[in-house]
Amino acid sequence: MKKASIISIGNEVLSGQTVDTNKSYLCRKLFSIGIPVVSSYTVGDQIDFIVRVMNLAGSDADVVLLTGGLGPTDDDLTRQAFARFLGTELQLNDRLLQKIQDFFTSRDLQMPQSNKIQAYIPEGAGPLANNLGTAPGIMAQMAGKLLAALPGVPSEMKRMFEESVFPELKRLSTGQAVVVRKLKCFGTGESNIAELLGPNMQRDRNPLINCTVEYGVITLHIIATADDKDKARRMAQQDETLLTQILGELVYGTGEQTLAQVVGQKLAQQRKTIAVAESCTGGTLAKLLTDVPGASRYFTRGWVTYDNTAKTTELGVPDDLIQAYGAVSPQVADAMAKGAREKASADIAIAITGIAGPTGGSIEKPVGLVYISLTSDNQCESRRFIFSHGRDFIRFRAAQTALNILRLKL
Ligand code: ATP
Ligand code: MG
Repeated sequence: MKKASIISIGNEVLSGQTVDTNKSYLCRKLFSIGIPVVSSYTVGDQIDFIVRVMNLAGSDADVVLLTGGLGPTDDDLTRQAFARFLGTELQLNDRLLQKIQDFFTSRDLQMPQSNKIQAYIPEGAGPLANNLGTAPGIMAQMAGKLLAALPGVPSEMKRMFEESVFPELKRLSTGQAVVVRKLKCFGTGESNIAELLGPNMQRDRNPLINCTVEYGVITLHIIATADDKDKARRMAQQDETLLTQILGELVYGTGEQTLAQVVGQKLAQQRKTIAVAESCTGGTLAKLLTDVPGASRYFTRGWVTYDNTAKTTELGVPDDLIQAYGAVSPQVADAMAKGAREKASADIAIAITGIAGPTGGSIEKPVGLVYISLTSDNQCESRRFIFSHGRDFIRFRAAQTALNILRLKL
């Protein structure tokens, strides 16, 4: 199976000034044709370093793609490094020189002398046309490996890659296919998921299961590799079924589905309406629910009752309840939910009250303490959570958790 390695060149990438979008673009493109990227390197504008990582990348992979450093200035050293890697010299290519001269002439400009360097290509390599700028790319095949140097400017890089490199790589990758399916989970931690999946997460398994986490949403990437796309698809599908069986209710969806979308579908199917009453999340739950197109079918209204008076006047939470238990309490969460459900005449209401921090916590009620209450029919149930990782995370996680409680209820 063919593998790839990517080298990003440029001091601006190393200093953090430029975000390396070229790399993620190339990784995605390669992945789409079943050539996994097995390593990547970032180096500054220094010939020795570039040659060194070319050697490393060449020993990792069959395809090595470089971006950056093809311009005309003294800090653009990729072509010199490429030549040194091949053990050859740069040679002036008259046709390239003419093309670069034409590029300037067509714009009524005089070609600066420094651009002449861009007409030099290492002996043993060929140029790749640049239809957007002056810097041609370089491509070479050496000892069964394909190496290509592309410009740093993302638009030029993409155009050159699509036109000249991608077709070549597609030819190389026949007989190998990779299919990825994603399972979305919520309600537990990564380590628990890993424990539940046990040997299914072994690194040498095919399909390979990778796990990423964002705001409590765990995405399991099922990566199936086979010699044709249909077979890889079947393998991934089988694994999706297997993992869903093992994880049960922890799995809320597939692909790019969000909790709010899944909850919205269920509400719409069951023709139920919902209202929300929020304190510490400041409207995040209402936002997530209404981010989904068509939410008006089920979302009636939301309140952000941030201070105690608002809880009393807007939702009818008894003042003595707040005095007795505090605004962050299961009693107040329940009263907020009941008040919201009644005022909105909704089938279901959810209330959230908590301490998002960074200040306002105490020993009994620490920062991150959140009560979420859900009421429907004659039932009202509140749950207690302690979230961590700062204000933003606490607020978002609380809203997502409310959606998950609702999902499980539906
Ligand atoms: P130029 O002719 O503009 O000098 P070049 O091929 O030499 O092109 P670089 O000088 O390395 O490319 O980069 C030019 C610009 O392209 C950078 O200033 C940066 O904005 C962008 N760039 C470079 N590398 C990357 C990267 N890996 N990801 C995203 N953008 C990049
Ligand atoms: Mg440059």
